[in-house]
Amino acid sequence: MKTILPNSTIGVFGSGQLGRMFAIEARKLGYRVHTFSPDNDTPTGQVSDFEVMADYDDLDAVRAFARSVNVVTFEFENVPARTVDAAAEFVDVHPRGEILHTTQHRLREKTFLSSNGFPVAPFRHIKLVDDLYRGVADLGTPSVLKTAGFGYDGKGQQKLNALGEVETAFEKLDGSEAVLEAFVEFEKEVSVVCARGQDGSFAHYGVIENRHRNHILDLAFAPAIVSETVFNEAVAIAAEVAETLGYVGTLCVEFFVTREGKLLINELAPRPHNSGHLTFDACVTSQFEQQLRAVCGLPLGSTEFYRPAAMANLLGDIWANGEPNWTAALGSPNVKLHLYGKSEARPGRKMGHLTAMSRTVTEAIAMVKDARDRLCED
Ligand code: AMP
Repeated sequence: MKTILPNSTIGVFGSGQLGRMFAIEARKLGYRVHTFSPDNDTPTGQVSDFEVMADYDDLDAVRAFARSVNVVTFEFENVPARTVDAAAEFVDVHPRGEILHTTQHRLREKTFLSSNGFPVAPFRHIKLVDDLYRGVADLGTPSVLKTAGFGYDGKGQQKLNALGEVETAFEKLDGSEAVLEAFVEFEKEVSVVCARGQDGSFAHYGVIENRHRNHILDLAFAPAIVSETVFNEAVAIAAEVAETLGYVGTLCVEFFVTREGKLLINELAPRPHNSGHLTFDACVTSQFEQQLRAVCGLPLGSTEFYRPAAMANLLGDIWANGEPNWTAALGSPNVKLHLYGKSEARPGRKMGHLTAMSRTVTEAIAMVKDARDRLCED
């Protein structure tokens, strides 16, 4: 195990809000942060010591970046495998490149999960239109067709309601490999954000409950309203996934909870996750600091919650009628505002979030929703 001590430099591939919050935590502990992405003046770059703007395919730039840091991690899982391999010639990369390779592709991820006995919804690999006809016949309707690579927040997803929709849906794939999944009539969606250290130590934030709007996370709160059995099972599955992958860093396992109380893994995020943003304010150690500790070979911190918490995402839509009313939202003293430094507020774009903490989770949810509503007051 290699310990990377404070005052060393952490390299981050990707430059969004996850990297920004990671960099803030890394700086609190006295580390330097260099970020690498194709963009400039990014959410992560704004709080980093050094921002490299280069293409992930520019392997000379990747190698120069890797030589300038002591360890590499990422905040964006679609970094190409050859980029990670080039960096790994010079420094350790956590989580490992193979894990990234598995989790950035739905088919590889689902195959890994099902072949290791983890619960997932029935799925089929779709390459040809005939695969899709057979898949829909096997899995029934509705079913969900997802492109195998580069999908997030419902992008590249189509719901199939009838066999007659197969041709059109297949055409929309435009030659991309895909996965067809049985539609899950879930009761709720939850996630387990957890971390595994280089020594195999494990820490988790319990079960977080997630509500989506238009396939994008809208609200997350903890503790989730689930039975003790569901709680224990979700945490046990997450721990086993982390162990099986030989994972180092923060990992999020997203689940569907069916009406019968059965858990199915929807997907894995090999990095801090939107549903874990509430740990930034509500826990002794945030998911971002946990990532830092794990990749640096330091002991993991306490995941204890100070208070129940709820987080509401702020999408670009809130800017539709001009600058949101920040003063009104912050009128509630137990609400915390996070903005990611993005200059252009496009609809659906994650611009920031609010976290509320209260005596009960129900109160925290009401408080965060109310604060978000007040953003649109005159
Ligand atoms: P994903 O990008 O796979 O996380 O999907 C985004 C959201 O779409 C999920 O959080 C669910 O709300 C919904 N979804 C995805 N797959 C399914 C499925 N097989 N059955 C029902 N809903 C789904």
